[in-house]
Amino acid sequence: MTDTYDYYKETLQTLRERGDLRRLPDVEHTGRRITASGRTMLNLSSNDYLGLATDTVLQQEFLDGVGGEDRLLSSSSSRLLTGNFTACTGLEHLLAGLFRREAALVFSSGYHMNTGILPALTDAHTLILADKLVHASIIDGIRLSAARCIRFRHQDYAQLERLLEQYHGQYPRIFIVTESIFSMDGDIAPLARLVELKRRYPGVMLYVDEAHAIGVRGRTGLGIAEEQDCIGGVDLLCGTFGKALASVGAYVVCDEVIRQFLINRMRTLIFTTALPPLNVAWTRYVVERLAGMTDRRERLADISTLLREAIRSSGMDCVSDSHIIPYIIGASPDAMLKADALQRHGFYVLPVRPPTVPEGTSRLRFSLTADMERPEIDELVRCLRDDAKNGDGI
Ligand SMILES: *Cc1c(COP(=O)(O)O)cnc(C)c1O
Repeated sequence: MTDTYDYYKETLQTLRERGDLRRLPDVEHTGRRITASGRTMLNLSSNDYLGLATDTVLQQEFLDGVGGEDRLLSSSSSRLLTGNFTACTGLEHLLAGLFRREAALVFSSGYHMNTGILPALTDAHTLILADKLVHASIIDGIRLSAARCIRFRHQDYAQLERLLEQYHGQYPRIFIVTESIFSMDGDIAPLARLVELKRRYPGVMLYVDEAHAIGVRGRTGLGIAEEQDCIGGVDLLCGTFGKALASVGAYVVCDEVIRQFLINRMRTLIFTTALPPLNVAWTRYVVERLAGMTDRRERLADISTLLREAIRSSGMDCVSDSHIIPYIIGASPDAMLKADALQRHGFYVLPVRPPTVPEGTSRLRFSLTADMERPEIDELVRCLRDDAKNGDGI
């Protein structure tokens, strides 16, 4: 007799044999160091890009000053019922003001944001044109929508233009969907060019996810759209609070009509408990101080340049133009061996494997943070140089 669970057991066994089995790592954190399997290492795999999640002084300052409703640890309701606390509407006003846009709307997470916006704003008369490498949460949003979707080759804007040319007469609404800094390659979309492109066709809207850029890029930390001076041209400018901002949640800045439409139709906003006021108050505290964090942004930019140039000078390709720096290895088992070797040298770097990245492009993904020290990066560069020289001898 076969066991009901045989299918799951066999699938897991296949993953194990391919070296693709995932497990939840047991880890402990001490500032920017992480302890796993008895080893304490520099954490090169976190999204704490500005080093705010490890800044206990800043967090204590916030906790000392927070009072009233903002101290609550649960909102106990959806925002459409009793969960719409002033911390949240205050944060939205703050964001709309900073971005100089009509409106902003806050969500429980980036996953809620990306799985909710496209299903709400699209229907069978909508075409979605999405970059091949957009985040899984955007893909899931596309799957939940009634729209037709075509994915264009990564950053192939000539192909995108051909698609717009071909389809703009057939669909009243078309969405171009992209990230600004891409999660796995760290390369950057030319948003100003996309704004210019979408303006040439009627009914085309631009949806940009700045999850990896908010806080990190732009003169006041508002992301790549600020850096490329095109905030006003992006219809849905999205980002998340769980990475550089060291909090939780996500936002879109947009026109008021879009905000109102989302409040009426977006299921991942309507049918979920709002974020706890305390978390939202912390996000607001960080957002208020973002413009003043230029030192952290510059430091991150400097060490990122250092690592990217070291990888290039060792003869490897590196498409990154940011603090997310992939080191492409190829086969999953090799990537796992190399990650393990670097961990033994005190660098907590993780292999990224299919299905997160395409088959045959398993990699190490270095994610730098502003609180890393220059000598630490120098040591990492030495390890990678040795690897390039000696094959897998990291
Ligand atoms: C991390 C990430 C998300 C998900 O955000 P969460 O707040 O962690 O749910 C969405 N989009 C991109 C591009 C991301 O990197």
